[in-house]
Amino acid sequence: MAEIKDIIFRGEVDLTNCASEPIHIPGSIQPHGFLLGLDKDYNVTYCSQNISNYLEVQPQDILGKNIGALTSEEEFHRLKNYVETFDKDQSPAFVFHYKGEEFNMLLHESGETIVLEIEPFPDGSMPLPNLYAQMRNFVSFMEESYDLQELCNYIAVETRKITGYDRVMIYRFDYEYNGEVFAEARRDDIEPFLGLNYPHTDIPVQARELYLRNLMRLIADVNYVPVPVLTLADANEDKTLDMSLSTLRSVSPIHIEYLKNMGVSGTLTISLIKDEKLWGLITCHHYSPLVIPHYTRLAAKLQGYFLTSQIAVRETAEEFRLSVKIDNHLDELMRIVSEEDDFINKILSSDAILKVTNADGVLIVNNGVYHTKGNVPARESIDKLLDWLGKNVSRQYFYSYALSEHFGEAASFSETASGIIYHSLGRSPKNSMIWFRTEKEKTINWAGDPSKAMIKVMDPQGHRLSPRKSFELWKQSVKFQSQEWRRPEVNAAIRLATNVENQLYLLNLKREEEKYRKLSERLQSANEQLESFNWISSHDLKEPLRMISIYSQALAGQFVESDEEFLRNASYHITEGVSRINNLINALLEYNRVGTVKASYNTFELKDVFNEISSIFGPEIQKNGGELLIKNIPDKLVGVKVLIQQLFTNLIQNAIKFRSPQRPLQIVVDAEKKDDYWQFTVSDNGIGIQEEYAEKIFKVFQRLHTHEEFSGSGMGLAICKRIVDLHQGQIWLKGDLNVGSTFYITLPVEPVMPL
Ligand code: ADP
Repeated sequence: MAEIKDIIFRGEVDLTNCASEPIHIPGSIQPHGFLLGLDKDYNVTYCSQNISNYLEVQPQDILGKNIGALTSEEEFHRLKNYVETFDKDQSPAFVFHYKGEEFNMLLHESGETIVLEIEPFPDGSMPLPNLYAQMRNFVSFMEESYDLQELCNYIAVETRKITGYDRVMIYRFDYEYNGEVFAEARRDDIEPFLGLNYPHTDIPVQARELYLRNLMRLIADVNYVPVPVLTLADANEDKTLDMSLSTLRSVSPIHIEYLKNMGVSGTLTISLIKDEKLWGLITCHHYSPLVIPHYTRLAAKLQGYFLTSQIAVRETAEEFRLSVKIDNHLDELMRIVSEEDDFINKILSSDAILKVTNADGVLIVNNGVYHTKGNVPARESIDKLLDWLGKNVSRQYFYSYALSEHFGEAASFSETASGIIYHSLGRSPKNSMIWFRTEKEKTINWAGDPSKAMIKVMDPQGHRLSPRKSFELWKQSVKFQSQEWRRPEVNAAIRLATNVENQLYLLNLKREEEKYRKLSERLQSANEQLESFNWISSHDLKEPLRMISIYSQALAGQFVESDEEFLRNASYHITEGVSRINNLINALLEYNRVGTVKASYNTFELKDVFNEISSIFGPEIQKNGGELLIKNIPDKLVGVKVLIQQLFTNLIQNAIKFRSPQRPLQIVVDAEKKDDYWQFTVSDNGIGIQEEYAEKIFKVFQRLHTHEEFSGSGMGLAICKRIVDLHQGQIWLKGDLNVGSTFYITLPVEPVMPL
């Protein structure tokens, strides 16, 4: 006779292998039924030791033999037929007859092996649940209720009615697989578990895997003695049986200890699966051992199907209701963004900007300028947050309802920013949108201290992990968290921010276009001015040249006479002509220099410029009883300092030159900020200018007076205009003959750097 061996997994569960404890191959079963494994020829390759408790046969009598030896020929044929036509989704359980008794038999395949799990009917017959009534009740309930919570309560109550367990709980997992008792039906005299939370370590990863593969699990009695599954020793030394799909499968000793610590004797667990993930469990507890028959288990499983079929529908419906609200706000904001140039201020003045994500505050950073609404952190905190986001978030967006878990420093401003949705509006956080949510402190009721869910214990075998002994209410207060962001809220934020980003980009393009348009206009006017050089040669330069040539010719002709008077006169005119040409050439060179100055734009102290001007011209003005008054000029200006100094020097020189002999000279320099430019005025109470010449005088060589009246080249104001043009500003004049002149100059606060 062949030697037999058991296949019990004998390795110890210790601290190192707890998570990998191979519970799918325990090699033992619970005793409320027995197990047979068959090869394809119906020979028995596995047999649980307890077969003799149910049939008049010992394992060694049947191992290696054909199963037909156990039954009548007719029963063997029925079994063969059942196995051959077996469909795991369709076939009902097989009723196995043995010497006048009936057994319920479940079949599944494990590798090459056909596994039969055979249980007696507890009361000797096969009680069939009233599935029709169960369905009808469920459908009518479904029509009445919308709420997922209500539905779960109903399922808990119904499942308890069907199965008779002391307690039925609907367990719901969060994203980390911590479970919460979401609904409960229980015996009146036991304490409620509703609202309690269980840490994810209570159901380790491999147990969750099994819940996904095998949707129902019965543990009839935690105090059971495991029954070894036996096989023939000579078959294959490493032979083992994967029992993942087995219903009788033995239970992990850790789980048994856990249930014992809870005081529970029997359990039934049904997996609730949504989108191929474990959404939750229907967990039934009994405080004394309880075996429920196969068909009752199926009825309970049906409740699980009812519920999972509705979870997605209810959750989607809830989300849909939220989306509809949010979309209304989003539409309003999108319209503003697409229609208004000043849309940032406009969307911030609408409540929709907060409602679109149900946030408490919002920040829009545009080119480093902060615009806010509602509850937002202090400026320094925002700076730090933006800095962190810039360094740590490479994606376009980031959101969290527990910001401080990512960015520790955020705990210091958790009051306003426990939760954020961030979206960049460009490449850097200098352009971004952030919605903020305030802190919502909450208390989680854990069933026992979650940090001590598994504890190290020392027993005669050494160290091992053991589940906690105490399930006493353990309150944890959770800080630094806001309400969770829901999917429609995050989606709306992303859609709006993307739109804002595009719109800002378009506006920017428009602005750039405008700048280039202005630049090209300036180029055109520069060309026009260049053209006005043409008549330099024809008039201004020719006039003194003619003078020189007349007097030198005369000089040549008259030289013999050596008329001293004539000689002096001619040489005076020649010198005068040469000096005027010299001045003209110098002025022209200077004019030309303005456009070619390579000095870069800088921010400089305007005060320094006027201090120098005052020190040069002050004494001369005061000598004649006049005054130079510098009023509200900006401290700093962006531009080419030497040119700006020349601009004001020319204007003040003119004011001095064209002063009125009738009154002491008054020069006032003032400035005022308007939008994005400075408007300067330089006013005097001199001889004034007639309105009709107001434009002409800015052209090269344009003068209103003769050389005899006032010296000059007619280039001073042309140079001024060129300097102002170069700085993208404007210059014009308001003059009043015999009263005075006021020159207006605008200079942009931030001029565009020349190409
Ligand atoms: P210039 O002073 O060399 O003649 P400008 O281009 O500086 O040339 O000035 C052009 C003309 O504008 C002057 O000849 C003068 O007639 C007139 N003008 C300039 N500034 C003043 C002023 N502050 N008051 C009166 N007239 C002025």
